[in-house]
Amino acid sequence: MIGGGIAGVSVAHYLLQLDYNLDVVLLEMEATLAHHTTGRSAALLLENLGTSSMRVLTSASLDHLRNTPDDLVDDPLLAHRPVLHVGTVEQDEAIDRMLVEGIKSATTPTMEIDVDEAMSLFPLLRRERIHRAIVEPDSADIDVGGLHQSFVRGLRRAGGRIVTSTRVDAAIPDGDGWQLDTTDGPIGADMVVNCAGAWGDVVAATAGLAPVGLQPFRRTAFMVDGPGLDTTGWAFAGDIDHQWYLRDDGPQMFCSLAEENPSEPCDPKPEELDVALAIDRLNEATTLSIRSVNSAWVGLRTFAPDRSMVIGPDPDNASFVWCVGQGGTGIQTSPGVGRITAELTLGGPLSQPFGELDLDEIRPGRFRTGQ
Ligand SMILES: Cc1cc2nc3c(=O)[nH]c(=O)nc-3n(C[C@H](O)[C@H](O)[C@H](O)COP(=O)(O)OP(=O)(O)OC[C@H]3O[C@@H](n4cnc5c(N)ncnc54)[C@H](O)[C@@H]3O)c2cc1C
Repeated sequence: MIGGGIAGVSVAHYLLQLDYNLDVVLLEMEATLAHHTTGRSAALLLENLGTSSMRVLTSASLDHLRNTPDDLVDDPLLAHRPVLHVGTVEQDEAIDRMLVEGIKSATTPTMEIDVDEAMSLFPLLRRERIHRAIVEPDSADIDVGGLHQSFVRGLRRAGGRIVTSTRVDAAIPDGDGWQLDTTDGPIGADMVVNCAGAWGDVVAATAGLAPVGLQPFRRTAFMVDGPGLDTTGWAFAGDIDHQWYLRDDGPQMFCSLAEENPSEPCDPKPEELDVALAIDRLNEATTLSIRSVNSAWVGLRTFAPDRSMVIGPDPDNASFVWCVGQGGTGIQTSPGVGRITAELTLGGPLSQPFGELDLDEIRPGRFRTGQ
């Protein structure tokens, strides 16, 4: 396994659930797990998000998220929080579009509400700016640390090993398997599972395999002081055209510019101009009056060219398995993605939750001509 974000630990957990006798070793280049995108998300479960395969993978994840086995978590992973999308007069069409698309493909309700109701869900909005609003009432916050840890506990208990501060620099075919050249020396493996997030194509190139065309996109997030009010029951509020979003986080507010700017795979840092632009937009849309930022960071959301995930054995070498392109849904889909990647790795039948999944939508070979 290459990569200790949510994808890597979930695949390792489900591999060992399916076959207790496997020798699973997870290699992570950083000193700690979840250092990159997994540790930088908005921590939201929004069922009506992403391509149709992402939605099936989210649905397939709900059981683990809602009914996590007691021995894998200390507390429930989900806390109910509605998601509110608001639009100005100029954004009328965007609201209509979301209602049509949302209702057509919704796995949970998506409904228009009036401005009073929108204000009660997020009282800091500037009322005069809201023309229309949509709510997805069945959404939730995910305890990302707890979810990641549930997989780590599961894989460790089943005998899986985690090795940090060890970067895979090359994967060299060796008989039926691989020799991995790592910063900690060579390691032999029968199979390689590529869960390297933004570095997915880089890892494939070191194995002599064609890239799938992954593109990481920056997204800036930051914390500011909250309004000092009781925020119980408040929604996650965002602009219908993805210009900004925010929600309470204890005494602070978690905010984002919700941008999608291309980047190389790297450890990105916040740009002052991006944070300033987000503050301008948030001060225009809300009464929060942000003057300073307590902390800021950037995460990379990595997409394949068609924005669906890339999951399964490589068409040119079936002992190299892809699990990348999680985009903006890698946390909420991780139980389903971990399970289906493990099932495809072991070549077994797919389990019941994946009945509606069109495998062509996630096949790694879909970007190569003739495959
Ligand atoms: C601002 C923001 C908000 C988001 N909000 C949500 C949300 O609300 N809900 C949701 O579901 N998702 C959300 N996401 C998306 C989600 O965070 C990602 O889809 C998910 O974390 C991707 O996980 P990953 O394991 O694929 O990648 P990562 O967490 O980046 O893990 C990849 C790992 O591979 C390691 N690695 C890379 N190359 C090597 C190598 N050669 N050798 C060893 N290790 C290597 C890296 O160090 C890294 O730890 C958000 C993302 C951002 C940035």
